[in-house]
This record gives sequence, C-alpha cells and structure tokens, in this order.
Amino acid sequence: MAKPLEPITRMVSQLSKLPSIGQKSAQRLAYHIISMELEDVRELASAIYQGRKEIRYCSVCGNYAVDDLCDICSDDGRKNGQICVVRDPRDVAAIERMHDYEGSYHVLHGTLSPMEGIGPDDIRIQELLKRLADGKTKEVILATNPDIEGEATASYIARLIKPMGILVTRIAHGVPVGGDLEYTDEITLAKAMEGRREI
Ligand SMILES: [Zn+2]
Repeated sequence: MAKPLEPITRMVSQLSKLPSIGQKSAQRLAYHIISMELEDVRELASAIYQGRKEIRYCSVCGNYAVDDLCDICSDDGRKNGQICVVRDPRDVAAIERMHDYEGSYHVLHGTLSPMEGIGPDDIRIQELLKRLADGKTKEVILATNPDIEGEATASYIARLIKPMGILVTRIAHGVPVGGDLEYTDEITLAKAMEGRREI
C-alpha cells in the first residue's frame, strides 16, 4: 500500500491536534480541503490565523475582545453594579445568548483544582478583588459550573467577598450537576440565574 503523500500527512497531523477531531475526522477534513477551491482554502486559513491574532482578553473582565475593552465593558449601560463571575469566555457567550442579564462579567480563566495544581493565584481572583475595591459593585453572581471545582471556587470567592459587604449570590441548580454552562440551554440558564440565592 502506498504511503499517503507528505502534504496530506502534514494536514492530517495538524487537524488532528484540534479538540474532538480524531485521526479519521482529520483525514476526512484534509480530503475535503483538497477538493476545495484554492481561494476558499486561503479564506479559511486566513480567517483562522487572523481570528487568533486579533482576539485578545479584555483588560477589565477577561472576556474575548478586539480592543483593550470588550463590548460589554465598554458599554456604560452594562455598569449596573452586578458582576457575574464565570470560568471562561464561552460561558459569557452562553449567558449573553439568553438576553436577560444586563450587568458585567468577570472571567476567571479556570477554576480551583488542587488535583491539577490550580490555586487561587492561577486564576483571576485578585483581578476581581481589585475591581470590587471601588465600592460600586452591589452584587457578585457566582456562575461557575455546578461541578466540584466550580462549587469550590464559588465558596472560596464568596468567603473573600462577603466581608466587603457585597451581596454574593450563586446561580440555582437548574444547571445539571456536573454539567457545563456552555452547553446549557437558554431557558435552564435563565431559570438558574433567576433562582440564584445568597451564599
Ligand atoms: Zn470586558
């Protein structure tokens, strides 16, 4: 059996590095790309490269941004005294999809996980405390995932913030235990937000 041509092997090996793309899917994608118009392939490659190059993290909340501030932090209408704390920018997108929440966000970029050696200094907790220092925040909504790490992170942050006299709430468990905020439908997420309780 002839070996696959080197350029194909190279494409397959790069594509298979992507999450949820196994060897078979990578091969399928590579063959599909080979059948595409060269100009369309250039567009695809350029969109991936430019997208990666232009997206950075908002200097205030840690959400995805093109400029120094994300769209939400640069919108004065969203400064209503509420900050919703989430694990990563995809969770911001999930909550934004329900068109219900009007405050701002704080993206931790991870959750506490002693097993994986992720401690408080490895996620953006200090940045959150700095934001709260101006006294303008009335409520911090802890919307980390309802799994062990998410719960531990929420309790840890609640303990730090409560002495500051700020209302700290935790989203309700409409979100399935062990579930992922990102994959939760809008109605469940809206209910979870509505049913949040003080912790
Ligand atoms: Zn922001």
